[in-house]
Amino acid sequence: MIDLYLLYGPPGVGKGTIAERIPAEHCLGVGRILRARRIGLDGKLISDAYVNQLIQDEISLRKQYVVLDGYPRTLEQVDFLKALPETRLVRVYALTCPDTVLMNRLSLRQTCLCGATYHPMLKPSAQEGKCDLCGKELFRRSDDSPEIVRRRLQQFHEETEPVLARLGSLVRYVDSESNFKTSVLSVVDEILSEQGHISSCDYRRQISNPRVHD
Ligand SMILES: [Zn+2]
Repeated sequence: MIDLYLLYGPPGVGKGTIAERIPAEHCLGVGRILRARRIGLDGKLISDAYVNQLIQDEISLRKQYVVLDGYPRTLEQVDFLKALPETRLVRVYALTCPDTVLMNRLSLRQTCLCGATYHPMLKPSAQEGKCDLCGKELFRRSDDSPEIVRRRLQQFHEETEPVLARLGSLVRYVDSESNFKTSVLSVVDEILSEQGHISSCDYRRQISNPRVHD
């Protein structure tokens, strides 16, 4: 039996911060897998049947528990996941934050080619404009521009609200606006301690500086 946790949240809300702190073998980022397989890059819609099969295969390779990000995204996918044998849907975390705050977070976000991200207020780099990890010049991603961010947020709401409604009482809303660090890290703590992984204080010590990304 594999325990499943689902993560939902608009871009910039801190999902990446959570995924980064869950051991990699328990994380299943569907967007990342599809990008790695170069699927959907041409803008074509990916069928529910394809994604469902992919998820079933990936879950069957994992042990104990899986944290899913980016799935299920349609009602058909929700029903498939709920009926998946040998799994138990434990909880759905829906990270929330007002769009105006996310716009601000993303429009100021700085990215490095190595994958690290920074934010002048939430996570400044030690030397302005330079990556702490590799020293390269930081830049703004083109899809962090205001018009594109607004569109991504709108798309997120349209797609996610019916899915969360279908998942019903399993959904726990987590406010990431008032205290980004505490709220987002409490999700990590809860999953890890539920799975008997590592004590939350060990983890807290490692994470004095959260990254900001989607
Ligand atoms: Zn870097």
